[in-house]
Amino acid sequence: MRPPAARNPEAERMVHLQLEQRDITDQRVRAAMRAVPRHLFVPPGSRSSAYDDHPVSIGRGQTISQPYMVALMTQALELRGRERVLEIGTGSGYQTAVLAELCAAVWSVERIPELAERAARILAELGDDNVALRTADGSAGWPEEAPFDRIVVTAAAPSVPAPLVSQLADNGVLVLPVGDWRRAQELVIVRRTAGAVSVERSVGCRFVPLIGSAGFPDTDR
Ligand code: SAH
Repeated sequence: MRPPAARNPEAERMVHLQLEQRDITDQRVRAAMRAVPRHLFVPPGSRSSAYDDHPVSIGRGQTISQPYMVALMTQALELRGRERVLEIGTGSGYQTAVLAELCAAVWSVERIPELAERAARILAELGDDNVALRTADGSAGWPEEAPFDRIVVTAAAPSVPAPLVSQLADNGVLVLPVGDWRRAQELVIVRRTAGAVSVERSVGCRFVPLIGSAGFPDTDR
C-alpha cells in the first residue's frame, strides 16, 4: 500500500469526465484512479496530455492505455482487496499501480527490459511494496507464483493463452484483449468456476500485440 497522496485535481477531473460519466461504477476503481499520479508514468515530454482521454506513447512502439480502458479492465476484474493478481504487459507501470491499490499483491511481467526498468523505478519511488516485476515473455504466465485469483493482459493475444488459463485459481477471472492486433479485437472475460472455464466476449478495443510463445511471433510486425 502506498502512503496517501496529495489531492490531484487533474486525476479527479479525469475520473469525473471519463469514468463516472461512462459506465465505471466501481467506487474502489474510481478512488484508485484519483489516487495514482498518472503523469509520473508518461514520458516527461507528454506530461501535458497524461490525463487526456486517449493512449499516450511510452516509447519502443508501446503505449500507456487510455484511462477509460484501464478502468474498464480493472472493473471487470471485480477486485475486493484480498486477491493475488498477475498482470501481463507492465508497460509504463500505471495499471500496475492502480491494481496495487485494489488487491493484496501484483505480479507483473514485461518483455521489454527498458520499460520494465523504468516502471520498477517509478513504482518504487511511489512506495508500492506489494508489486513484483519480472522481465520475460508473460504469455507463459508466472508458473512459480500460480495460481492467481485474477489475471489481466494489456496486449492483444491471437487467442486466449492456455498457460494463463491453467494458472487461474478457482473462482478466478482473466481479462484480456483477443484478436488480430492490426484490426478487430475485443475484450474477453474468462472465468473458472468449480473447475469449468467460461468465456464471455465484451467490447471492441485496440491494443498493441502480445508477443511471445502463446502470443504473436516477434516477426509478425
Ligand atoms: N498497462 C500498460 C500497457 C502497456 S502496452 C500501461 O498502461 O502502461 C502493452 C505492453 O505489453 C507493452 O509494454 C509490451 O511490451 C508488453 N508485452 C507485449 N507482449 C508481451 C509479453 N509476451 N510478455 C510481457 N509483456 C508483453
